[in-house]
Amino acid sequence: MQIKRQTVKSILEDDRTEYTTTVKGWVRTFRNNQFIALNDGSTVQPLQVVVDATKFGENTLKKITPGAAIGATGQIVPSAGRGQRVELIAEHLTIYGASDPSTYPLQPKRHSLEFLRSIAHLRIKTNTFGCVFRLRHAIAFGIHKFFNERGFFYMHTPIITGSDAEGAGEMFRVSTLSPSSPPKTASGEIDWSKDFFGKQTNLTVSGQLEAELGAMGLDRVYTFGPTFRAENSNTTRHLAEFWMIEPEIAFADIQDDMDLAEDLLKFILRYVLDNNKEDLMFLQNRLIQAEKSLPQHQRSEMELIEKLEFVLAEPFERITYTEAFNILRNSKPNKKKKFKYVLDQWGADLQSEHERYLVEKHFKRPVIITDYPASIKAFYMYLNDDGKTVRGMDILFPQLGEIVGGSERETRMDVLLKRMEEYNIPPEELHWYLDIRKYGSCPHAGFGLGFERLVQFITGMSNIRDVIPFPRYPGYAEF
Ligand code: ATP
Ligand code: MG
Repeated sequence: MQIKRQTVKSILEDDRTEYTTTVKGWVRTFRNNQFIALNDGSTVQPLQVVVDATKFGENTLKKITPGAAIGATGQIVPSAGRGQRVELIAEHLTIYGASDPSTYPLQPKRHSLEFLRSIAHLRIKTNTFGCVFRLRHAIAFGIHKFFNERGFFYMHTPIITGSDAEGAGEMFRVSTLSPSSPPKTASGEIDWSKDFFGKQTNLTVSGQLEAELGAMGLDRVYTFGPTFRAENSNTTRHLAEFWMIEPEIAFADIQDDMDLAEDLLKFILRYVLDNNKEDLMFLQNRLIQAEKSLPQHQRSEMELIEKLEFVLAEPFERITYTEAFNILRNSKPNKKKKFKYVLDQWGADLQSEHERYLVEKHFKRPVIITDYPASIKAFYMYLNDDGKTVRGMDILFPQLGEIVGGSERETRMDVLLKRMEEYNIPPEELHWYLDIRKYGSCPHAGFGLGFERLVQFITGMSNIRDVIPFPRYPGYAEF
């Protein structure tokens, strides 16, 4: 009789014992030629498979090594040992794929995250990355659930874009022209009209402008897709390829925008706390272990789950740029010139060190900053009556700094055209964007949430390269 395969998770969650089942997965450890710790990806918990060595041939036993893919059929019984409620007594074993123990890089010991990053094709097999990627899935699912429940429509905006005026960062060119001998115009320049799309094209840095078009017919939309930035940012918060969530809402102002962003972030925190406690617990313990080697003052003030609960419970602080600037200018690290960028002139852009000071030291909770100087924000943000500030908002989180950037959009045609002129964006380039101000324009707002930054915050991973399966960053595009 063929017995249907069960996941380890479903066995561990099942109250029953004394039944026969089949599991398939990868060997973590094989202790005393008797106890296999089997992980199948469904949960961080392994299932203990008990092997009576006298029942199985030497040929089978020697292939049960860390990393091997096996199947086991047998009785689920209450476990005699400590550490697990039930175990499987193997009656039948199948070796699907051996794993040479002399070369397998994932020995059952603690590996550094840097080492694991260099074997990103195998790190998915570890407990830590299993937790991170299960959480990554849950967060993505939670995001779709949130928007769906609120009547938003998921909109797919183009990945290859014909406009280079998105304004969010340096772009990667998309071209099929020969790099060594591209067609030239009479004046000797590259003739982009001969390129695949008949013009210059790039990978998108943001789906916002197209999402605005969507909101002007569907009322509330969101994008959730990959974005690409060719910026040389070698930080623990920047990737060259990352995923972004960009909702856009019609008949809405900056207040509605902030409320939506705060609701979304809190919904997701609630969602993972309710659904992914086990993975969070594992990562929390990992962090505690990792921080043991640090001096007390460098350790986290809160444990991972406590931190998530805390952000969930407190309202985010909402202040203007001018208020934030004054707090920072009068702060100790600014006066003592401890900041790398000392703040002096109103209008200066806030750096990550300033953002983290506000969140971690001053307010001790997430902060939303609004009404930024127009000169440091994009052309499409609504210009306030003071003529100096715009209705932009950034949400700052502990450990990360900026996690969300958004704004109420400029809807007045004359103001928009003037702002585009200041940024040297020709109106022809964005005629479609201007059209929505001509035909049924209305107040609208939206924001961009960096997906990996949210995953980083929730998992507590310190480097953004460890929350996406195959990271891309300057000088690196393996796998
Ligand atoms: P930063 O100042 O951190 O570079 P930004 O101002 O360039 O951010 P936006 O253009 O407003 O960011 O993008 C919206 C969101 O996308 C940010 O709040 C952040 O969460 C995320 N984000 C931006 N750039 C990156 C990147 N290179 N890698 C990962 N996430 C990013
Ligand atoms: Mg940036």
